[in-house]
Amino acid sequence: MAFDIAEYSAAMDEFVLKMEKLDSEIHPEIPGAIGRVCRALRIAKLEYTLYEMDRGAIVSEGKSFTAYASGVHDNERAHTIKETTGNGSIVVYGFYPRSGAEDWSPAELERITILEKTLFTFLGKIRTSKFAEQLLYHDADLDIHSLNYMMRALGPMIAKGEAVRYGACYFNLKSFSLVNSQLGRRAGTGVMKAFVHGLQDLFGGRGFVFRIGGDNFGALFPKECLEQVKEYLCGTIINVEHTRQKRVNISAHAGYYMIDDECKTPSDVMDKISAAANIAKKTPNTPYVFFDNAVRHRVEDMKMVEGLFPGAIENEEFLVYYQPKVRLNDYTLIGAEALCRWKHDGEIIAPFRFIPILERGRNICTLDFYMLEHVCRDIRKWLDEGRKVVTVSVNLSRVHLGDMDLLDRIIKIIDKYSVPHQYIEIELTETTTDVDFTELKKVVSGLNIQGIRTSVDDFGIGYSSLNLIRELPWNTLKIDKSFLPSDNEEEAQRKCVLLKYLIAMAQNLGLECIAEGVETIDQIALLKENNCFNAQGFYFDKPLPAEEFSEKLL
Ligand code: C2E
Ligand code: MG
Ligand code: MG
Repeated sequence: MAFDIAEYSAAMDEFVLKMEKLDSEIHPEIPGAIGRVCRALRIAKLEYTLYEMDRGAIVSEGKSFTAYASGVHDNERAHTIKETTGNGSIVVYGFYPRSGAEDWSPAELERITILEKTLFTFLGKIRTSKFAEQLLYHDADLDIHSLNYMMRALGPMIAKGEAVRYGACYFNLKSFSLVNSQLGRRAGTGVMKAFVHGLQDLFGGRGFVFRIGGDNFGALFPKECLEQVKEYLCGTIINVEHTRQKRVNISAHAGYYMIDDECKTPSDVMDKISAAANIAKKTPNTPYVFFDNAVRHRVEDMKMVEGLFPGAIENEEFLVYYQPKVRLNDYTLIGAEALCRWKHDGEIIAPFRFIPILERGRNICTLDFYMLEHVCRDIRKWLDEGRKVVTVSVNLSRVHLGDMDLLDRIIKIIDKYSVPHQYIEIELTETTTDVDFTELKKVVSGLNIQGIRTSVDDFGIGYSSLNLIRELPWNTLKIDKSFLPSDNEEEAQRKCVLLKYLIAMAQNLGLECIAEGVETIDQIALLKENNCFNAQGFYFDKPLPAEEFSEKLL
């Protein structure tokens, strides 16, 4: 029988076009795609067997897949071709003629080889893309979906109007580093896995949990599961396997958004739940926050501040205000704190409206260096004018910790204006984590060696650790204003005791001590009674524009 070359070419074209669309090596449509070529080449059965490479050895048992079978084939006259894949696995292709049919001609065998090579290439491509997909869409450690998976899955759900039946949440596990350090990383991962699978099980297959990264997760669940999800994330006991400690309570900060018509893309959903979760995380005693108008405004503010920031730095819209620090004995000026104000469109904006936003990224670092530079410039000017300059403290955000060049950059700025080091003090807030602690130690010790003073800002309101105070060479503790009792306050008694204790502690550790936010003469009397003789507050002065402050430097 003459070989029909036109039919063979058309069949190959069809095969290639159909295979292009398939995403599995054992896709049920493979027989349909390959059938016409097999008929053109008189193949009665085509089968391939994969022998996987596992830990350096080929496994003896292969997995077989019949890509085509029609009529009775001749087992004895199989034509086999062996291939080795990129990772060392072996695939054996078996081509079987029909029983009783003529042998294949050399030309036909050549075409069978071409078919085999084409098939091998396609299957290889499918395997690689499946592997890549696994990496992209699946978290192997916890055996759950990834953020990419959710982004891909949610798009079509929104388009079809199905997403409105779902709620979404973003959650961050509370103090999980503690669980890791108590149980070890392996058991920690086990706990994390049990926790997220426990949550996923609540959805009854109608939703899923996905990992965003580290201890941050998201979930997409039917709206009717909301109460259960909330309860679960507020705290759930997880049994720990293979350790002495048998149970741990895991909870999370969460941000929720009940998907509505307004949401157009998966990114909309992610933006909303992450904004809400972020607020939950930063607000004490708030395990969860729902995305609502208040959150929306905050997000808008955030976008506005972040958008305007580069231009504002460029145009020098940030101003340094100086708040005097005084000695209580004689009310003499002993120093000042540099505080930032943003002059935008003729309006003066207070730091609480932009600092927390800038602290979300590294913008705050730009601002802090800008402030330090402007302070140094002012001091240089005052020195040159022959004024009696006092030490000015500059606030440094914790976001800087971990910046290897921090110390060098600070010194470089100060030295650029030839400001004697004793005129600069750096204020840093307390820290909680070990990582921060090590970094903080480097910075504070480094500044100390350079003769630059340091102070612990807002002392008492963070998670103060005595170690932090004792082990680093600080100069000053700034006692937070919340420890100063005000008139007719219920808590006044308790605050007096705490204040006394804080002052005594600072002095025992050989540190200077200054009270922030002093507003009344009674507070001044109380401070003096307890041996604290330095203060800063509205009773003396508000933060002043540079020009006004310089008049005090006689
Ligand atoms: P802070 O460093 O603790 O600064 C003291 C804050 O207390 C200032 O608020 C000051 O105006 C306010 N204050 C002073 N005396 C009184 C008083 O008698 N009563 C009351 N109620 N408040 C008083 P401000 O200027 O609004 O700054 C707020 C916070 O913003 C600062 O707290 C600091 O954490 C941050 N900040 C300001 N400027 C910068 C900066 O340049 N860089 C960084 N990283 N943070 C800054
Ligand atoms: Mg401060
Ligand atoms: Mg403070």
